[in-house]
Amino acid sequence: MRHSILRNILRGASALLIAAAVLVPALAVGARSASAAASVPVSGRSSFDDVASEAEAFRAELALNQEDVKAAPDDGEYFPHLWPVRFSESGYVSSEFGNRLDPVTEEKTEFHAGIDLADKPNSKIYAAAAGTVTEAEDYGGYGLTILIDHGNGYETRYSHCSNLLVSEGDTVVQGQIIATMGATGRATGVHCDFRVYLDGTAIDPMTVLDPPERG
Ligand SMILES: [Zn+2]
Repeated sequence: MRHSILRNILRGASALLIAAAVLVPALAVGARSASAAASVPVSGRSSFDDVASEAEAFRAELALNQEDVKAAPDDGEYFPHLWPVRFSESGYVSSEFGNRLDPVTEEKTEFHAGIDLADKPNSKIYAAAAGTVTEAEDYGGYGLTILIDHGNGYETRYSHCSNLLVSEGDTVVQGQIIATMGATGRATGVHCDFRVYLDGTAIDPMTVLDPPERG
């Protein structure tokens, strides 16, 4: 969601640059002909060349700006926006990011630093973005866990897996199957606890993920 907003802002900026590329040379022509009329005649040829080179400069700047849009990290394969599971008809988000209520006392208890994605046992788990596997091991209460460093301040973590299909040091592409869903560690049911870290701090994965995929 956040990255589509950014994309729209960048699109808006491109539109402004296009408008500027059209308007500024036009204004320059207007200003030049006004001053030419008031004082010494200016060669039409050289003022045309000036305007043409200004337009060329704007066009070059616009092209650079479009490169920036393409290279925006939010759109890249290293940005963790891919859903780490493809929900079957019985899959769902069983716990969201933030404070959760104790089911008995209904009081706020622990802070949940990720989202829980519940589905059938051994459902495939996909790398949300490309990167390097920095941990692939049994993490006590979190069970079999994968941590991927995306090299841009983002890391993603996948816990309670039934099987780990990559090893520490492996490079993975976005969408690569890295594990299968289980209930290892402290888990009441089959699910993947999915976390996103930005510069070491857990953020709400829903702020970076695309809409969920099914099937
Ligand atoms: Zn969880």
